[in-house]
Amino acid sequence: MRQLIAGTWKMHGLSREAEAIATPLREAGILGRDLLVCPPATQIAAVARILAGSAVAVGGQDCHYATHGAHTGDISAPMLRDAGATHVIVGHSERRQDHHETDDQIRGKAMAAIAAGLTPIVCVGETGIEREEGREFGVVGRQLAGSLPDGFAGVVAYEPVWAIGTGRTATEGDVADMHAFIYGELVRRFGAAGEGILILYGGSVRPANAAALLAVPHVGGALVGGASLKAEDFLAIARAA
Ligand code: PEP
Repeated sequence: MRQLIAGTWKMHGLSREAEAIATPLREAGILGRDLLVCPPATQIAAVARILAGSAVAVGGQDCHYATHGAHTGDISAPMLRDAGATHVIVGHSERRQDHHETDDQIRGKAMAAIAAGLTPIVCVGETGIEREEGREFGVVGRQLAGSLPDGFAGVVAYEPVWAIGTGRTATEGDVADMHAFIYGELVRRFGAAGEGILILYGGSVRPANAAALLAVPHVGGALVGGASLKAEDFLAIARAA
């Protein structure tokens, strides 16, 4: 299975910055891995235009579970698709925390994404306290059960909350254990289809640690935050072997 290297710019990127990050990606030849960038919603159409015809896909960072309606400030999956997106991240820990998103809502968003023809990337991951208390497998298991719809056709991202934006990365052993656990849960629930679901690792992935993390069994790629804001770092991660 080809690994997916996905970058989320979070709430960064005015027009000039978006162009500066996206333009070098257009020409980059990356063999053997798929690339995706998820700019803020205001830049999706412009970045999709820059990357049109390249090997780099464009995604959203969130979507609403409804297709349209009275939801001021929200963006639907068909709108993302219309702007040029092929993927959308749902259930990122910053959305779970800042917007109190529940597994039920995230499952609705994943279903809306699939219905709109987008590939959802559903994020799961424990907090530092949950890991200290030895509850990481229970927490992630519950998030998977609640956030993934039946017949799920998408990507899962394991992102330990304590590793996001902190410079602290999970050890390769921790990543191996959690990815094996997630793989087992996916196969138990979805059968043979579960074997084909990519499981990304996210949390302070950098050029220096990417090769080791991407070599861990059942790691299907990376979800990259901070390091995706510099094209050269993002490309170095994508090229890491
Ligand atoms: C993220 O926000 O999903 C993330 C992994 O961020 P960072 O790479 O900066 O830790």
